[in-house]
Amino acid sequence: MTVKNKVVVITGASSGIGEATAKLLAQNGAKVVLAARRRERLQQIVDDIVSAGGEAVFAQTDVRDAAEVQALVDLAISTYGQLDVIFNNAGIMPSSPISALKTDEWNDMVDINLKGVLNGVAAVMPIFTAQKSGQIITTSSVAGIKSFPGAGVYGATKFAVRNLMEVIRMESAQEGTNIRTVSLYPAAINTELLKTITDSDTAAGMSELYQQVGIAPTAIADVVNFAIDQPESVNVNEFTIYPTKQA
Ligand code: NDP
Repeated sequence: MTVKNKVVVITGASSGIGEATAKLLAQNGAKVVLAARRRERLQQIVDDIVSAGGEAVFAQTDVRDAAEVQALVDLAISTYGQLDVIFNNAGIMPSSPISALKTDEWNDMVDINLKGVLNGVAAVMPIFTAQKSGQIITTSSVAGIKSFPGAGVYGATKFAVRNLMEVIRMESAQEGTNIRTVSLYPAAINTELLKTITDSDTAAGMSELYQQVGIAPTAIADVVNFAIDQPESVNVNEFTIYPTKQA
């Protein structure tokens, strides 16, 4: 089975990378189950997909809430009768120097970028283990493989999910459950992500970089589509995606 007819849960689907991926996968015949907090945006994207001939539903979901993430996964099963892939993509990036001590934002990043992914993993693991098949795709970042000033806590959450994906892959191979994991390490992708930055110097620097080199989120959607399209025996588990112009 390729992308066509697969059931894919996507968090952070109300804009940017998640929205672009939902639209591409649906265009290629996947049944997509969208999650984020902004209900109107999700409704509009589902309407767009359905009017283009695709299949999609949504559940307003805050990934910090394990019960809401469980309800999202339950919706996929009750609507489409199966679950093949979860794309843990929801995230925020309120970057700042550690010395600024924006501790509320540190906690928000841990809760959304790390615990939100753990909530997704916990919700799908019983299903994927029982069916001995499933794919867990997570949006880490280049800040999950390299250190950047200003991205101390953001990078910490992204390094963490990278480790999580790799350990799930290894344990699944040992346990014979055939669960495949994919980590994505995008660099500058033009989305709404920079709006989450409150530190004015960091925001100005990032905004200039993205204006100069940023590429469209469809680049990441193409990679996710490729990963899902692989045969069951193949685990393409890491992708770094830079704009060609980014150093
Ligand atoms: P966007 O801001 O456009 O999208 C972020 C998505 O996450 C939105 O759909 C947002 O929806 C959702 N989200 C945020 N918080 C929550 C929450 N608590 N519960 C549920 N959904 C939530 O940015 P991107 O598309 O760029 O971000 C997607 C992922 O890509 C993030 O994990 C980000 O860290 C990562 N990334 C992005 C890069 C870039 O350059 N853009 C580079 C590397 C990684 P809503 O607000 O409606 O809840």
